[in-house]
Amino acid sequence: KSFHELGIIDSLCDACTALGYKAPTPIQNEAIPLALQGRDLIGLAETGSGKTAAFALPILQALMEKPQPFFGLVMAPTRELAYQISQAFDALGALISVRTAVIVGGFDMVPQSIALGKKPHIVVATPGRLLDHLENTKGFSLRSLKYLVMDEADRLLDLDFGAIIDKILKVLPRERRTFLFSATQTSKVQALERASLSNPLRVSI
Ligand code: AMP
Repeated sequence: KSFHELGIIDSLCDACTALGYKAPTPIQNEAIPLALQGRDLIGLAETGSGKTAAFALPILQALMEKPQPFFGLVMAPTRELAYQISQAFDALGALISVRTAVIVGGFDMVPQSIALGKKPHIVVATPGRLLDHLENTKGFSLRSLKYLVMDEADRLLDLDFGAIIDKILKVLPRERRTFLFSATQTSKVQALERASLSNPLRVSI
């Protein structure tokens, strides 16, 4: 199948072509149609599978229909992964002028607060620093969030972000779509699935 046949709109198909994506990967084939139908998803997939575009394309497509600030939040275990994910959103969303902010530890809070003040569409974050901004950056809230992604959930929990993620989940709206990706299904991951997803479908490759 092509991205078009999966239901992806022309401007995003063009971005895929520009990036050299000739056809969807298996996880994209599985996840994209279900995500476009509005389902919550659990994706069992590793890095290299194309999982980032599997969640980024449906989120960008929904964003285009109704653009608004703080539309999507992606939580990732490491700074490096957060930057890679934001680059994927920027590249796939280049034709639709998506604004992305990266919020990770190890850098000054102030430029990040300024970036959040510009009301990006997509925030890609490591959990600790995100919670710090939710608690301390005036005017920043995720009350209007529509899409939450937890990427590499097993690693997020191995790094002991569990308690922080629970606090973040408490301030997110219940009326949202959630995608959780993980390479493995530990009991901690299953507990997070129960706490964060509603009636999810499983996709794996
Ligand atoms: P990921 O698993 O999301 O980290 O993606 C791994 C690599 O595959 C990244 O460099 C992507 O740009 C690339 N990629 C994602 N989707 C496709 C596709 N449909 N065709 C070719 N490359 C892709």
